[in-house]
Amino acid sequence: MSSFNWCHGPNCHTKELQSRIRGSKGSKVLRTMKVKYTPPPEPKGNRYYWFRHWTNYFCNQSCLMEFVEHNIQGMIALAPRREPLETPIKDPVKDNTRYYGQWTIEKRT
Ligand SMILES: [Zn+2]
Repeated sequence: MSSFNWCHGPNCHTKELQSRIRGSKGSKVLRTMKVKYTPPPEPKGNRYYWFRHWTNYFCNQSCLMEFVEHNIQGMIALAPRREPLETPIKDPVKDNTRYYGQWTIEKRT
């Protein structure tokens, strides 16, 4: 695998930013950003570092969200959800002595 990706943002190459300018004098262009590829670390416990992975494909959150905006229907079609998901829990317990997070919710195993 190469050590970089081109940003997948559909408008990355149209941003009027110094970082996009490439080419020689007289034939300058605004070019899609190169994004350094860093393999995500191994999962530790139940932490999967998903939030770092997208940075291998997009130069910033703006490009990520523009990609989502352009491709949302195709993304949903990859894994459509036609039924809600549920996580079994024990009967919640209310604790009125706490100001915040009054309900104790525990997953059932
Ligand atoms: Zn970008």
